[in-house]
Amino acid sequence: MNSKASFDYLIIGSGAAGLFAANILAKHGRVAILNKGEFTDSNTWYAQGGIAGVTDSDDSIEEHIADTLRAGAGLCHEEAVREIISRGGRIIRELMAFGTPFDTEGDHLHLTQEAAHSHRRIAHAKDATGKAVGETLLRPVQANPNITCLDHHMAVDVITARHLGRYAQGADRCLGAYILTSGGNVVTLPARHTILATGGAGKVYMYTSNPHVATGDGIAMAWRAGCPVMDLEFIQFHPTCLFHPQGSTQLLTEALRGEGAHLTDATGRRFMPNYDERAELAPRDVVARAIDHEMKKRGSDHMLLDVRPLGRKKIESQFPNILKRLLDLGIDIRLEPVPIVPAAHYMCGGVKTDVAGRTAIQSLYVIGESACTGLHGANRLASNSLLECLVMAERCAQEIVKQPLMKIPQLPQWDSSGVVPETERVQIKQNWDEIRSTMSNYVGIVRSDERLRRARRRLAMIREEISSYYWQHPIGRDLVELRNLSLVADLVVRSAQHRKESRGLHYSTDYPDTLPHAQDTILTPGPL
Ligand SMILES: Cc1cc2nc3c(=O)[nH]c(=O)nc-3n(C[C@H](O)[C@H](O)[C@H](O)COP(=O)(O)OP(=O)(O)OC[C@H]3O[C@@H](n4cnc5c(N)ncnc54)[C@H](O)[C@@H]3O)c2cc1C
Repeated sequence: MNSKASFDYLIIGSGAAGLFAANILAKHGRVAILNKGEFTDSNTWYAQGGIAGVTDSDDSIEEHIADTLRAGAGLCHEEAVREIISRGGRIIRELMAFGTPFDTEGDHLHLTQEAAHSHRRIAHAKDATGKAVGETLLRPVQANPNITCLDHHMAVDVITARHLGRYAQGADRCLGAYILTSGGNVVTLPARHTILATGGAGKVYMYTSNPHVATGDGIAMAWRAGCPVMDLEFIQFHPTCLFHPQGSTQLLTEALRGEGAHLTDATGRRFMPNYDERAELAPRDVVARAIDHEMKKRGSDHMLLDVRPLGRKKIESQFPNILKRLLDLGIDIRLEPVPIVPAAHYMCGGVKTDVAGRTAIQSLYVIGESACTGLHGANRLASNSLLECLVMAERCAQEIVKQPLMKIPQLPQWDSSGVVPETERVQIKQNWDEIRSTMSNYVGIVRSDERLRRARRRLAMIREEISSYYWQHPIGRDLVELRNLSLVADLVVRSAQHRKESRGLHYSTDYPDTLPHAQDTILTPGPL
């Protein structure tokens, strides 16, 4: 990248949210969209089930809203829910216009049903919807001369007027970002508007369905810049992630349970009917807690998902990708149950924003999984997240192009004076492992005051070590990620400590009851 480059719109992250925003903003100015890995490295590419939206005349927006509010356990922001859900049908039609190959039945969309939805309303492209949506949105981005695509370029921090001492009065303003290029240099990239679309932070846990890029970078960057975060204690654990050394991020979509798969113990006994009358179709948190409880009760490191009740024909026609991936690992789901474990899957919380992604800092927007609009409340309804990404991207682009044209700022270069080359990297690996095991053991599906206190103490020590290391050595991707991961882990713990009740995805043995009034957990960064 040319060191003098500047853009009207800088989009950090190329999942569904970033790609959709890029397609819209390119009609109004020069866009740079960047990704710290390949363009296929994102949670979006991993999404299997589909995208929720009302497209069937038997269904209604009010029912989709009611399902979302029920799943959110009293904490959803109804205004955000209404705004996002009411755009569902239109977003699905827009994706079809882009060319997304959703499954059809005659001239209708083929819709699936997932846990806690009262209707079949999930549009899907076989069992690889995210990849289909991603590819459809990526093609026009790569072909557009107004869009510069930069892979292996990692945002390190956003740059604000206040950081540069240019702060006058009113809200701070974002001026661009520091970028670690594919060549290993850090450059400044000025932009009129910066959008963080960096996805979630599943990597703070040992078992996760998320790819390796999900290290919470956007949340950490926004926090360091001065943006409050909201409801970070609500981490959705997917109940059924493959338990296998070579397939630790392989998810078994809940559409399998929606179509009739059973959860069993090693003896083949179904246990979900003992926990909830909806059995395998109970909300994710109920299913994940039941699996966790059965595992702890039996001292087992996994349970089983039996897909055989679906029958060979349905497995082969509706779930060909899962069938193939598991066959590659030596498991034939047509013939045998699959070992599974709950895994960190989705962050309901994030940087506090409105539906247009506006933050506390002017010209800095956060969209998609990194943001928290209040749509999900204390628990996400399945397949609402891709919808949220796309609605936010559209609303964010609309908001940005309404703004008066600001001058592209001049920015100073990154200062790397005083750093010395590293002699070994063992410390980085050790800290990565420690953070992830601390979070899994102490801040997982079931929490307590004592576990959270222990996690906080350990994380404080690790963060101190990382902080001194960070400023003494040249930065690389793993060090930047480690710094972000440790910060996000700490924010999750602090948010969990703040909540003195059990609600939705947050369950504490010290506070098993739900308080009568639902309140968001909002953490605000201290003065810079
Ligand atoms: C296995 C799995 C299955 C899922 N299934 C569904 C489903 O069926 N339906 C549904 O609605 N949701 C599903 N989800 C959730 C959904 O996929 C995500 O919430 C959504 O895709 C998030 O999109 P995003 O654009 O916000 O982020 P992502 O798609 O994660 O994209 C983030 C991007 O930011 C880049 N990035 C991160 N940090 C930096 C940095 N510092 N510098 C530069 N680039 C950076 C990443 O490389 C990536 O390109 C699933 C998630 C997983 C993991």
